Amino acid sequence: MNKGLKFRIYPNKEQSVMIQKTFGCSRFVYNQGLSLRVSEYKSGNSVGYKETNAMLSSLKKSEEYSWLKEVDSIALQQSLRDLDKAYKNFFAKRAGFPKFKSKHNHNKSYRTQNVGGNIAVAGNYIKLPKLGYVKARISMPVNGKINNATIEQAPSGKYFCVLNVDVSDVFYLNGGCMIGLDVGIKTFYTDSNNFSLQNPKNLARYEKKLIKEQRRLSKRVKGSVNWNRQRIKVARIHEKITDQRNDFLHKESTKLVKENQIICIEDLNVKGMVRNHKLAKTISDVSWSKFFDMLEYKAYFYGTEIIKVPRFYPSSQTCNCCGYQNPNIKKLSIREWACPACGTYHDRDGNAAKNILQKGLSLRKAV
Ligand SMILES: [Zn+2]
Repeated sequence: MNKGLKFRIYPNKEQSVMIQKTFGCSRFVYNQGLSLRVSEYKSGNSVGYKETNAMLSSLKKSEEYSWLKEVDSIALQQSLRDLDKAYKNFFAKRAGFPKFKSKHNHNKSYRTQNVGGNIAVAGNYIKLPKLGYVKARISMPVNGKINNATIEQAPSGKYFCVLNVDVSDVFYLNGGCMIGLDVGIKTFYTDSNNFSLQNPKNLARYEKKLIKEQRRLSKRVKGSVNWNRQRIKVARIHEKITDQRNDFLHKESTKLVKENQIICIEDLNVKGMVRNHKLAKTISDVSWSKFFDMLEYKAYFYGTEIIKVPRFYPSSQTCNCCGYQNPNIKKLSIREWACPACGTYHDRDGNAAKNILQKGLSLRKAV
């Protein structure tokens, strides 16, 4: 299995200059390759990676573009491979037609391959082609063969290195419990034991801050020094929100697969739900689909079963004790109810979670 391990890196002045140059050259080569492919196509010729690579060789030989020789040659070839992939995705109808890369895009990156150990981790440094040893925060161990490295600069100005590593799978035992989850808006989820997990609180605080700073940004003259300073400020808050949300999702998904043998969730069509205006922000914020993805890939390592219950199943309206369907519960505002048939008192979400668990188990038996 391949794993992407992301580390913050702290290039010195010389190294940042080289990284910026490589960003620029990769973008240039990508755009040159794209215009070659477009113009050749117009003249009725089919041009692929091989021809664009030949173009790169001749550009490097010419005096005008000899500066291309200063940067990592594998990174430049990689950008042509990326272009080729963009074309393949376009022809397979997975993506739109490849676009020219803009200088004004603040997400910058290039990728380079490990050839004969020119990418390696040594202490608090990552060795990279043309850069040498770059200071890094090695926040997790790198065990396995490094295939390639992507050097990125986020809009906040921070540098990162993502190492793609071959790792052998390590399996763990889970705690053997069973649980149903009902994801919510006010709470992140309620489980079939009536436990409610709250959304991380400080996120809301940062979101308020983000709105404030974004408003400030919109008042600045685009491209000015003050605008750029403010743009970085906004990007940093964005980064903070994403980091915190991911930490939360990782922590909670790991906890669930560790504890449980079976986890039943609703097969949410999150994309469909986000279209609903009012709820859109909250829904995308709590990132359920991301959470479910994490559950599924982590489940593999813990031997946990994830069972998806069809969405049309009326989990909120059905009494989990007697099965009575209460049509009055359709409204989201009803948080608690007593079953008219058997008298059981329900917390709306806890009842839904119990139903999701029961339904999941019955689906499992049916298989
Ligand atoms: Zn009942």
